[in-house]
Amino acid sequence: MVLPCTNPCPSFWIEAASSPLRDHRSTKDLQAKTDVLIIGSGYSGASIAYWLTKYTDSPPSITILEARDVCGGATGRNGGQLKPDWYISYPKWSALYGRETALSLSNHERAHLRAFTELLAEEDIDCSFRAATAWEALMSDVEMARVTEAYESLRDIEGQEAVSRLTFIKDPEEAERVTRIKGAVGAMQIPAGQIWPYKFVHGLLTRLLDRKLINLQAHTPATHVSSHPDTEGYIAVTTPRGVIRAKRVVHATNRWASHLLPQFEGIINPALATICAVKASPYYVEKPWESTVSIRWDGVINNYLSQFPPPLSTIIIGGAKEVLIKDPSSFIGSDAEDRLIPGVEEYFKGIPKRDFIGWDGPDVADLENAGVWTGVLASSVDAMPFVGKMPNYENQYIQACFHGHGMPRILGSSAHTTSLILDSLGISYSTPRIAAIFPPLPSPFQLTQERLSKVRAAADKLKEASGKASIQLPKVGSNGVDGTEMGTEKINVKEVAGDVEGYTAPLVDPLEGDPIFA
Ligand SMILES: Cc1cc2nc3c(=O)[nH]c(=O)nc-3n(C[C@H](O)[C@H](O)[C@H](O)COP(=O)(O)OP(=O)(O)OC[C@H]3O[C@@H](n4cnc5c(N)ncnc54)[C@H](O)[C@@H]3O)c2cc1C
Repeated sequence: MVLPCTNPCPSFWIEAASSPLRDHRSTKDLQAKTDVLIIGSGYSGASIAYWLTKYTDSPPSITILEARDVCGGATGRNGGQLKPDWYISYPKWSALYGRETALSLSNHERAHLRAFTELLAEEDIDCSFRAATAWEALMSDVEMARVTEAYESLRDIEGQEAVSRLTFIKDPEEAERVTRIKGAVGAMQIPAGQIWPYKFVHGLLTRLLDRKLINLQAHTPATHVSSHPDTEGYIAVTTPRGVIRAKRVVHATNRWASHLLPQFEGIINPALATICAVKASPYYVEKPWESTVSIRWDGVINNYLSQFPPPLSTIIIGGAKEVLIKDPSSFIGSDAEDRLIPGVEEYFKGIPKRDFIGWDGPDVADLENAGVWTGVLASSVDAMPFVGKMPNYENQYIQACFHGHGMPRILGSSAHTTSLILDSLGISYSTPRIAAIFPPLPSPFQLTQERLSKVRAAADKLKEASGKASIQLPKVGSNGVDGTEMGTEKINVKEVAGDVEGYTAPLVDPLEGDPIFA
């Protein structure tokens, strides 16, 4: 059982935002009672609070508890990529869940770009959001083959229309030109966005505080939640600052869900990821990237970047898996957000000179203040988040475990969670215009007792087989830093876990949230 550590290494997003909300406490003391208590003030918690106030003119009273600074978890430390990269996963989803569910997962992700565009305009929130495209620089024949297979299989199943929004470039010279990445042998362009996630969440919460619709309490960890309501129908939530009683409790606690809900121990697992903020060189100040870019060697090894428009011009780069993979224990199963992973800072600083065409900055790039950091993401063996009512608990909900891919999944999931809460409180509502952009929640996200049992069985078997972790990475033959060829040896899940009755447990790349199939 783990609570968020109180001394995570500083992240550029948090430090550079200088938000007045950082340590906010709406009231000196906790209120005695609230209608809805949301534990966690990241993207999940904040967006559920937001929708609760938009679905009805008579919203319930809402309190948000946050163990750290406001939005001090994964949302304040991530890569800022809002990238519905469903096209690469579609064939796998289709094989695993069937075509209808694969479409539902794809459409749910895609809806996020439009919903963000409209919500940010409606609420007038400045969070450096841009809905544009993502270029994927394909750096190896292995990756070209993987992307080609996904593209063709998507076209075969769904027809030409499905790939019409993608641009696939197979000419290496053109690939280098459009991506500005040295050595790209191909490129894929997809609709995508970029965002300053911490500013987005602080913007949302500021609107709700201005409207006096929430009570927000930073530095207030929930340490215990009673599993059943008392005789008056309230659930008691214990904190170091006293007990607060709530009619409904929402666990928006990501990796840390199992601290309050022990049934998630070993089901929602931690993995460290790492990001940096590089100062642009003169060429990139003058000609900034207008798309996000990922630099991909195979299904696991990649770096990804986005650049702020001037005057900031900062380039955010994430990944460094070439370094991480050399010592999987440095990140798989790790909660060590209070330190950097050895070798990562040097690696990040060398990327611009090595990979960016036109880079005219120092060979060892300069970082911004708080310019390299780690963050904990949540991972499960079935690569899907858990969204819904807690089985066997009265009046408690969870929305957690979005892996490294929460930005194009959470806003829509929160709309679903909101409707469950309002239904159970008997508050009448109508779906607001922007929430109506989302299709229904994809069924693989939904939490049921049956899914929990299956994931538990798969996780236990994997743990037993591997002796230490419930997730494993594919073994990479060599690494790109040395200029040698990349290759991915995929693990056969049946060899590792055996048959789990009625359930196909994919292995998961914890950084991508992407199932890896045998
Ligand atoms: C380094 C990194 C890079 C990433 N890059 C991307 C990316 O580029 N694109 C993308 O789509 N996704 C990315 N992700 C994933 C994405 O950040 C997450 O999916 C998303 O932010 C999850 O939001 P959340 O609100 O569910 O969780 P969080 O933001 O982690 O919020 C949970 C909050 O709950 C609080 N909390 C936990 N337990 C308690 C408790 N008991 N009491 C009180 N408070 C508690 C935590 O302190 C935390 O603030 C990345 C993640 C990491 C770590």
